Order: sequence, then structure tokens, then C-alpha cells
Amino acid sequence: MKLFQSFLNRGEGPEIRRVRHELVRRSLEVRAVERLTPHMIRITLGGPELAGFTSPSPDDHIKIFIPGLDGSPTRRDYTPRRYDPQNGTLLLDFVNHHGGPAAAWARAAKPGDRLEIGGPRGSQVLSSPIDHWLLIGDETALPAIGRRVEELPAQTSITTVVAVPGAEDEQTFVTATHYVSHWVHRPMDQADDAAGILAVLKNLEISDRTFVWVGAEARMAKAVRQYLLDERRIPAQWIKTSGYWVKGQADASVKDVGGER
Ligand SMILES: Cc1cc2nc3c(=O)[nH]c(=O)nc-3n(C[C@H](O)[C@H](O)[C@H](O)COP(=O)(O)OP(=O)(O)OC[C@H]3O[C@@H](n4cnc5c(N)ncnc54)[C@H](O)[C@@H]3O)c2cc1C
Repeated sequence: MKLFQSFLNRGEGPEIRRVRHELVRRSLEVRAVERLTPHMIRITLGGPELAGFTSPSPDDHIKIFIPGLDGSPTRRDYTPRRYDPQNGTLLLDFVNHHGGPAAAWARAAKPGDRLEIGGPRGSQVLSSPIDHWLLIGDETALPAIGRRVEELPAQTSITTVVAVPGAEDEQTFVTATHYVSHWVHRPMDQADDAAGILAVLKNLEISDRTFVWVGAEARMAKAVRQYLLDERRIPAQWIKTSGYWVKGQADASVKDVGGER
């Protein structure tokens, strides 16, 4: 159930519709586990409690509830990669890194295991007038970027610039959009270094009415935003930047780098 909707039209920028959802906690069953790429584990969840799940925006997030490394209750943010109400399944893609309890949970997951999720609590739905989308990120943002590429209507123009460890970590998306992808390779322990992404951006034309979405390690996300503002003179209302994680800190994110929330 939608609790409220509000419409914000930030000057000349695209319209952002903020939708609030009733916060529901669900206990789901692991139906399948797939090694999508060397650094991405795809978990298929299902069960009767999925009924009524909703996720209108590709960059929505849910909370997953898992035991911490010391066994205490812990929560982390993940993107609903694909919800299929017909099959009653929800896909989550977990980056396979070697630091925390969420990645460890995904590595050990097997069919029949259970996972509690909460949310999404709210969505930010972007709409016209966007002529082009530029989606920038690291592997943690691939679920949101993949969703956007798959869900935007045919004829939409999209460019992606994504940093992953190697060629085998690149993903392909089924889309009817005009879609151009650029991949940057760097080791995972250099995920806070924006140099590779910036090198690609420096050679990219960014036309008027391009909406730029950035989701990545927080230092890298900030560096990319600063470049877009300072060097490319893109108005702030055409950029949405999120620090999806912070190198060296557990359970840390900066959900709105411009607003530092
Ligand atoms: C809105 C939003 C959506 C997100 N969606 C997804 C998603 O769909 N899939 C996904 O995998 N992640 C996603 N993330 C990022 C994810 O929440 C974090 O990576 C989270 O910290 C992982 O939890 P953990 O328990 O594995 O590690 P933590 O216990 O949080 O961290 C332990 C250590 O690992 C490091 N670390 C955390 N994440 C990474 C990483 N990706 N690579 C290398 N080191 C890391 C930390 O800096 C810390 O030093 C999202 C984050 C946000 C804010």
C-alpha cells in the first residue's frame, strides 16, 4: 500500500516522484544459487510471503537480515534485481567479496535456506524530460544498473560505465534500448580509485538533458560527482550519486552524496 506520493520538480531537472511503501518484513526461502560471474552470486528467493512485494524503481533497496560474523543480528542493503510476480520469485545479486557477513551468507547459501527481508520502504521514480541516461558504478551497482537497462522502454538512449575486477565479471543485459556499455577493469581492493572511470568519462560526450546516475564505493562516487560538477558543468539536479559502501568500514553507505545523507 502506498502511504503517500510527492512530486518534486527541481527547477529544470527531471521529475522525481517519491513513493513511500508500507514497511513489510518477509521470510523467504532460497530456491536457487548461481555463480553469475566470478564476483557475483545470484540468489533466487521465493515463498508465499513475497505476495504484494513492490519495487517501482531500479535503484530501490531492501534490507536483508542475517547473522553477523559474531552471530548478532545484522542488516545490509541490497537491490531487488528482478521481481517476477508470475513465478513468485525475487532475485538478489551479491558481490562476492571477502569482508562481511552478507557476502559470507551468499557464499554459503543453498536451496532451502531462509532469508528475512524488509522493504523497500520508499522509491524515487525518475521521469521526463530525460533524453539520455548515463549510468556509472561498480559491481555493487550492477543490479540497479542492469534493472534500469532492462526496464527502460525501447528507444531510450543509455550509456553505462562500470568498474569490475575483470572481463569475466562483465554482464550482458537483454534490452530494446539504444545501449552502449563501457567496462573498466581494476582489482577489487582498488574500488575507491576513480581513475579508470574518469578516463572513460573524459572521452565521453555528455549531451544536455542527460541524467547521470552514480552508485559505487563512496570515495569513488564522490570523485566522479565532483568531476561531473566541476569539469563537465552538469547541473546538480541532473546527477544522483550514492556511495553504496565505504572501503574499510562495515555496514556503511552514503545514500545521497550531494546531500550527505
Ligand atoms: C542502496 C544500496 C543498494 C545496494 N545493492 C547492492 C546489491 O544489490 N548487491 C551488492 O552486492 N551490494 C549492494 N549494496 C552494497 C552492500 O550493501 C555493501 O557492500 C555491504 O557493505 C555488504 O555487506 P557485507 O556484510 O558483505 O560487508 P560489511 O560487513 O558491510 O563490510 C565488511 C568489509 O567489507 C568491505 N566491503 C563491503 N562491500 C564490499 C564490496 N562490494 N567489495 C569489496 N569490499 C566490500 C567493507 O568496506 C568492510 O571493510 C548496496 C548498497 C546500497 C546503499
